[in-house]
Amino acid sequence: MKVLVMNCGSSSLKYQLINMENEELLAKGIAERIGIEGSFVKHETTGKEKVLIEESMADHKVAIKFVIEALTHSQHGAIKSMDEIAAVGHRVVHGGEKFSGSIIIDAEVKTVLEECSELAPLHNPPNLMGINACQEILPNVPMVGVFDTAFHQTMPKESYMYALPYELYEKHKIRRYGFHGTSHKYVAMKAAELLGKSIEDLKLVTCHLGNGASVAAVKNGKSIDTSMGLTPLEGLVMGTRCGDMDPAIIAFWMEKEGLSIAEVNNAMNKKSGVLGLSGVSSDFRDIEEAASAGNERAQLALDVYYQRVKKYIGAYAAEMGGLDAVIFTAGLGENSTVARKEICKGLEFLGIKIDDDKNDVRGKETVVTTDDSSVKVLLIPTNEELMIARETKSLVG
Ligand code: AMP
Repeated sequence: MKVLVMNCGSSSLKYQLINMENEELLAKGIAERIGIEGSFVKHETTGKEKVLIEESMADHKVAIKFVIEALTHSQHGAIKSMDEIAAVGHRVVHGGEKFSGSIIIDAEVKTVLEECSELAPLHNPPNLMGINACQEILPNVPMVGVFDTAFHQTMPKESYMYALPYELYEKHKIRRYGFHGTSHKYVAMKAAELLGKSIEDLKLVTCHLGNGASVAAVKNGKSIDTSMGLTPLEGLVMGTRCGDMDPAIIAFWMEKEGLSIAEVNNAMNKKSGVLGLSGVSSDFRDIEEAASAGNERAQLALDVYYQRVKKYIGAYAAEMGGLDAVIFTAGLGENSTVARKEICKGLEFLGIKIDDDKNDVRGKETVVTTDDSSVKVLLIPTNEELMIARETKSLVG
């Protein structure tokens, strides 16, 4: 069974074709600048040369046609015909309260997804565009929606409610949803496998540290708390997002700087985080380099970032009543030796002992603590696409 995984943004579309008999990656690629001048598809079939297809792509439907052409191409393709695609798994950012698991997409589901768009106006509409375009091009192929929010739907009410007037929850569904659920679920399951234990018996803190970043408390295989909230702005310091702060700052800031709600919102999402603090970049590679060269604000940005992650690890250990392992994943979590070391510094009292040699590693599944560390720290490269393909197979297969 071959599953096509789709992750559609407003002007881009990432895809992978996975053979679910053996979970082998058959092909992957990205279509960029959809609807903008200079659009292209970068395609790579496993074991073959990469190709660049530069064509005008007015919308997602046209882009998907080029993707299918690339996948079925006689020279650089991975399959003979599109009939080999048994199902399409779509990443959908927000599933609201309706979806606590993945679901086969039908007309009713699409209506609910449209309702959820209000909660994720930047993400859900392009996800839906991708679904509609795929349905037009592959009308007989089942489509599955896999939600970033679904894994966190197991959170108890005390984790997801904000201490605001209760009517806001009833009227507008203002509550914590959490994101990166597919990634948190994947690395939690993988950690259990690597530790040789049942996930039912584990208390895990999963740290997805990429451009966007979130932490989850995964107790007995279920997410019981997570740092992102109604939107992906809450929680950790991120590349350009501020994460947690005193909500009164917003009114104060607006008044002092004469800003509108939209301007403050934009600044909190796009000009804050390590970019805002350092003034250097939102990319951790640049910030680590600047800090090493003596840039104090770059070092400050890193220190604030590390401290926030540490704080969540401690808080979640307390919430779960213990801790078996901490998992690092995504761009920074998988690649930065210094970030893992600094975040875990001072957590020896919890039973964490980082092994500097083992921690000197990038992008591979491994334990980075000493053998006698009672709490293990693991590096696990995330694989959201494979998780989406697995969910799709389990519903369709
Ligand atoms: P992601 O969103 O998972 O693609 O992660 C992107 C983030 O990972 C960016 O901020 C990068 O700076 C960071 N990143 C990627 N590689 C490295 C690296 N070798 N060292 C430090 N940060 C990295």
